Amino acid sequence: MMLRRTKILATLGPATDQPGVLEGLFHAGVDVVRLNFSHGSAQDHINRANAVRELSRKTGRLVGILADLQGPKIRIARFKNGSVFLNEGQDFALDINLDENEGDHSQVGITYEPLALEVKPGSRLLLDDGRIVLDVVSVDNMRVNCTVVVGGVLSNNKGINLLGGGLSAAALTDKDMEDIKTIAEIGADYVAISFPRSADDLHKARRLLREAGCEAGIVAKVERAEALKGLDAIILASDAIMVARGDLGVEIGDANLPAVQKHMIKRTRELNRVAITATQMMESMIDNPIPTRAEVFDVANAVYDGTDAIMLSAETASGKYPIKAVEAMHRICIEAEKQPSVRVSDHRVSIQFERVDEAIAMSAMYMANHTKIAGIAALTESGSTVLWMSRISSGIPIFAFSSHQKTLGRVTLYRGVFPVYFTHEAQDHAEVNREIIDQLKKYQNVKDGDKFIITKGDLTGVQGGTNALKVFTVGQGLTP
Ligand code: PGA
Ligand code: MN
Repeated sequence: MMLRRTKILATLGPATDQPGVLEGLFHAGVDVVRLNFSHGSAQDHINRANAVRELSRKTGRLVGILADLQGPKIRIARFKNGSVFLNEGQDFALDINLDENEGDHSQVGITYEPLALEVKPGSRLLLDDGRIVLDVVSVDNMRVNCTVVVGGVLSNNKGINLLGGGLSAAALTDKDMEDIKTIAEIGADYVAISFPRSADDLHKARRLLREAGCEAGIVAKVERAEALKGLDAIILASDAIMVARGDLGVEIGDANLPAVQKHMIKRTRELNRVAITATQMMESMIDNPIPTRAEVFDVANAVYDGTDAIMLSAETASGKYPIKAVEAMHRICIEAEKQPSVRVSDHRVSIQFERVDEAIAMSAMYMANHTKIAGIAALTESGSTVLWMSRISSGIPIFAFSSHQKTLGRVTLYRGVFPVYFTHEAQDHAEVNREIIDQLKKYQNVKDGDKFIITKGDLTGVQGGTNALKVFTVGQGLTP
């Protein structure tokens, strides 16, 4: 299969539990899967993770695992009859003291206690991703009285957002803390933190994850209006960020999303972190075998924006055409990546590097983008060399050669980087280079005359030790 630089992240769910579907996703080129802890039991997620690891072993293609915590999504409680129809202009109340199963046409319970303290007359509440809109009229003890501005069907446990943000729920709930134990057991490569407000939420999450024995990289889902205010600090506190367009669009207004997406991706790359673009990218494919033209453009535009990964949610988790959704993303990315603008870079040309390994990584990319190079083989312990490399726009594939599963799992999300499990006994450089070429042949056509860049350190097993950049030509003797 053609090497695609942009990574495809697919959410697993009932649809991918069907026989043959996960195999189909592997075959279609999925790079990372998402276990969504907002749905399903711990056992469901363990089973799915095991199936992914098993297929990775069987196919020799490492697919990363991202575990997504539910976080403090604020929700209404339940209705006596499962749902109600709200009419525009009618009164409707959210009441903390109402029994959780006793909602009706005029009121419903809510478990988030501070709500009554955090809204005031005039506040606008958005329910079910903005499908229902309520304006707060008065707050009476623990009861929030509203008028329905946009009505429709409202069913059990739907989410609530406050326009403009400002609900204060802490980022990790008791359920999240329980789930973290499962995630540590699974050995996920990434954990996504939902609804962080600030960098502090992420520092705290990192500490709690490490205490639970979880080594995963941390993804900050940017989905609250206030997260945008401290965006740089949030990016720096994380390994990757997600442009979580679903909840974020409700809080800041959908029309603001395109500019925010472009800014977030650009800033994330500048700060040497990884960006995921998420939600509704192929929404119509939940029910249809082909995407709309608008969805084709959305995927391509995310590629032009420089995203590392694009995500599928219900399209793969519960849609009718999970495999076709991945196939469609694949073919759109391949074409978008031919655009000359995504292959050139002036990123960091005026920067003074403090570290030798970083300077080597940048030199390799400069060379790759300005000479005829078939690929880069980076022998890496921690993966930082390939992270630096992949922040530079380029059309040249970067192969991360490592013996560390943790490193290989992390790079599954990096744009343009392909994990290669590699150990070598040989001490002789020429012999190691020969082994590297043998590996590369598994990923692309290698022919005599092709030039490859190898970066490595004098000593293997040392982090930050990359101090050599070598160019060799296939078929012309692989001397040290
Ligand atoms: P979710 O997050 O799918 O967990 O809601 C993504 C988003 O809000 O866009
Ligand atoms: Mn969300």
